Amino acid sequence: MNIKHNLNKIKQSIPKHVTLVAVSKTKPVSDLMEAYNAGQRIFGENKIQEMADKYQEMPTDIKWHMIGHVQRNKVKYMAEFVDLIHGVESFKLLKEIDKQAKKHDRIIDCLLQIKIAEEDSKFGMSPSEASTILQSEDFSVLKNVNIIGVMGMATFTDNQNQIKQEFDLLKSTFDTLKTIKPDLSTISMGMSGDYPLAIDCGSTMIRVGSSIFGTRN
Ligand SMILES: *Cc1c(COP(=O)(O)O)cnc(C)c1O
Repeated sequence: MNIKHNLNKIKQSIPKHVTLVAVSKTKPVSDLMEAYNAGQRIFGENKIQEMADKYQEMPTDIKWHMIGHVQRNKVKYMAEFVDLIHGVESFKLLKEIDKQAKKHDRIIDCLLQIKIAEEDSKFGMSPSEASTILQSEDFSVLKNVNIIGVMGMATFTDNQNQIKQEFDLLKSTFDTLKTIKPDLSTISMGMSGDYPLAIDCGSTMIRVGSSIFGTRN
């Protein structure tokens, strides 16, 4: 696996307005450093403890994205340093992030995770729940979180039509939410297997792991 080569190939193939998150979960710091030395500064992890350990060991100019499911009782372990939380799937979680961010005098950027897949195993809220949150009084008083967009994961399938439909749903949800909160900027969708399609459907942020670092065990 030539991490630098993989990274450069992907970066050359995506438009300038699309942000690449290098998904480094389960990979050793030495692999992340290869990507870092090739210029990558945004890394995505799906376990808070693992991300906190890597944060301690690695250069301070890295932006750490939490892309996995977040347990409320663990938000405190990343509140000091996390750059963007992709998987906000409830108002309760948003409230906890706000509370922990406040302790560090920070404003933490968040994405609302929308359930676009048909699989029950995937997390996320409905588009209407997301609208309700953005319009609520309860949300307007949270001063230490900033919702900058949406995130979604398509169904694990070879059916490109179905994946496209799910990406289209996330894009249209984003467009609707943007009428409520005009400063929304980010649509996080697309992984190794489907990021070109995601970009065609309007993605502005892709989360790519195995195509950079190789397959995971
Ligand atoms: C693991 C993971 C990815 C990256 O998956 P690859 O197929 O290895 O690119 C993207 N998003 C989320 C939420 C993940 O958990």
